[in-house]
Amino acid sequence: MPDAAAHLPFYYGSIARAEAEEYLKLAGMSDGLFLLRQCLRSLGGYVLSMVCNLQFYHYAIERQMNGTYAIVGGKAHLGPEELCEFYSKDADGLCCTLRKPCNRPTGVEPQPGVFDSMRDNMVREYVRQTWKLEGDALEQAIISQAPQVEKLIATTAHERMPWYHGSITRDEAERRLYSGAQPDGKFLLRERKENGTYALSLVYGKTVYHYRIDHDKSGKYSIPEGTKFDTLWQLVEYLKLKPDGLIFYLRETCPNPNMPGELTSPTFLASLCTLSPFIFQRQLGPLNADGYTPEPVGKSRLLPMDTSVYESPYSDPEELKDKKLFLKRDHLMMDEVELGAGNFGCVKKGVYKMRKKQIDVAIKVLKSNNEKTVKDEMMKEAQIMHQLDNPYIVRMIGVCEAESLMLVMEMASGGPLNKFLASKRDEITVSNIVELMHQVSMGMKYLEEKNFVHRDLAARNVLLVNQHYAKISDFGLSKALGADDSYYKARTAGKWPLKWYAPECVLYHKFSSKSDVWSYGVTMWEAFTYGQKPYKKMKGPEVISFIEQGKRMECPTDCPAEMYTLMQQCWTYRWEERPGFITVENIIRSYYYSIANKTENGPETEDKSKETLP
Ligand code: ADP
Ligand code: MG
Repeated sequence: MPDAAAHLPFYYGSIARAEAEEYLKLAGMSDGLFLLRQCLRSLGGYVLSMVCNLQFYHYAIERQMNGTYAIVGGKAHLGPEELCEFYSKDADGLCCTLRKPCNRPTGVEPQPGVFDSMRDNMVREYVRQTWKLEGDALEQAIISQAPQVEKLIATTAHERMPWYHGSITRDEAERRLYSGAQPDGKFLLRERKENGTYALSLVYGKTVYHYRIDHDKSGKYSIPEGTKFDTLWQLVEYLKLKPDGLIFYLRETCPNPNMPGELTSPTFLASLCTLSPFIFQRQLGPLNADGYTPEPVGKSRLLPMDTSVYESPYSDPEELKDKKLFLKRDHLMMDEVELGAGNFGCVKKGVYKMRKKQIDVAIKVLKSNNEKTVKDEMMKEAQIMHQLDNPYIVRMIGVCEAESLMLVMEMASGGPLNKFLASKRDEITVSNIVELMHQVSMGMKYLEEKNFVHRDLAARNVLLVNQHYAKISDFGLSKALGADDSYYKARTAGKWPLKWYAPECVLYHKFSSKSDVWSYGVTMWEAFTYGQKPYKKMKGPEVISFIEQGKRMECPTDCPAEMYTLMQQCWTYRWEERPGFITVENIIRSYYYSIANKTENGPETEDKSKETLP
């Protein structure tokens, strides 16, 4: 789960002081050797453990109410990374400057903490209940969308709170507050009829007072003239501590009698309450700072789980009853609209009629001069796709043999990634690209786990469902590996996409998940260049000698250094030393989580780090 330090190689997570000292000893005890760990006492805080003159020093890093981080008495910084960077240049009260990160030994992952698991549970519960997902579909949703889900929880959490009464009139609010005991500070929150604004109704001295809640242009909530908050429940939490302009502070919840039961499960509410009000500050930016506009993620943006292609149409047991490899022609309606074309024929838009629903499909239609070998090839592709079921892979619905052989697939109407990015250069942010490439890594991790090699991973074969949802497609060259095999050996070279191929593919015709990782690196390069052609005008054989000379493509303009480093790892010459998709997915996930939270804070970043807190 998102942790502001998760991506740092010298971050150990929730380890004890003694363990930290052990790692520092192992790493040589040089002056300025340091590591970072999670603070076990304060929520969201860290400890900087370091060495100077063969002695250990441990400095607590606290998370301030406004979302910044500081060593007690020191300057405030935007995040733990920025803080460490600062102290590497200026000791500013520490025993010495930070000189050498004590990185985690290979294979050691940051230790998850108590709060992480609480947050995990909350996200899991929310995803399960909101999208009715279970099993792998649930796990994949959590991994791929955690930053968005956390934000969604934060911005809609008030709807699940017992003090939230939804859209009731002022009179009804008074009726509810006057019924039963009327202690000072009894309150409820309600939605007003006028354009979705809110009001707070509060009892004091047996009288009900109503306060309008302002919602400013940047999306912040406040009592007029009061402190501004990103979410309603943070506002309520704050007003429980301090009246902030109200006649009295909020003390007792007037519970909503019609609370929709759904997400009020004990686990969910318990975690939400325990973690409030700190947990979402990082997601939503500093509490009291102005000028930060939250992206309306979740409310207006479709998440993969909101689309009809997140789960297989056969995940419905009723539909599963009819699942067969061969589809009935009269259940298939084909449009004239052509989605794409290839040597085999063309891909057309269509609709497939199932038991309970009709679904949009893409139909790969074989050319009419049906040669046997071409037909066989398409059937091989179908056999492969038939065995796959993952949210980040284009699913096959079935094949249909009629006027010609047809492969019926889920529809990914956004088209190929390279074309999409080239046409939308100005609209697509780097973090959007990282999000999509993370999804591709999830699909590839699944293939690797199932022992399939794709052999044609390229931006042209990554199709988009929408701007924030990518799927891997085109299994025309794919192979299922034998249970004991780690690679597929092609007997003869064919029409191969050489620019995407690892050295061992070209030299020895050996294809494995590791060679797919190489192609993934090239696909990343295509994505971060917004759809440029790799290796410029070079021909396949020239690319091979380019690689043999130890050369690699350069870092695309504006591509984050972390992402270029990952590409370079994918282009490790020897496949034995190249990372697999488990590692690749992990790296891109940590990076994605770290920026999914940060980028939206945008221009504020600079100023914040220079600010000194009182
Ligand atoms: P080829 O083996 O010729 O590369 P592809 O499977 O990559 O064939 O399909 C060719 C083109 O057809 C794609 O680039 C895309 O534009 C379109 N296409 C293929 N599958 C789909 C799909 N499931 N949804 C939407 N468009 C698709
Ligand atoms: Mg293709």
